[in-house]
Amino acid sequence: MGYNKKNMEIISGLWDRSGKDSMNCPKCGAKMILIQLEPLQDAENAYVAYDSIIECTKCENKIRAVSFTILGSVKNFDVKNIEIASWSPSGSRVISIYEHILDYDLLKKLKETGELAEFLIVNKQVVQVIG
Ligand SMILES: [Zn+2]
Repeated sequence: MGYNKKNMEIISGLWDRSGKDSMNCPKCGAKMILIQLEPLQDAENAYVAYDSIIECTKCENKIRAVSFTILGSVKNFDVKNIEIASWSPSGSRVISIYEHILDYDLLKKLKETGELAEFLIVNKQVVQVIG
């Protein structure tokens, strides 16, 4: 695909935290990983988004995506959407609402504690809480 390996950063094994939403390769069933490539210019996004590839760890299957992370806390959530309170790179307060596939109990805990967490957003959907 002609991308520069030096700029690749594997930021996460995807969808494997809660089990039921685990993302496996549709072709061979092996685990898939997300690799961030070049940053994208996107004036509408308060965060730096990356041109990304979701790649199978076993076969040649690859999916292009746009991904970014937000360090923030859970302000509110329901089964479909999550409201994340965070700061933009310029330091202003930002409330962002995204669709999510996260575990209900995890979100409940994060909301109750107000704990800061890093949220991984892929194609405008929150798919994982990192670390
Ligand atoms: Zn595969």
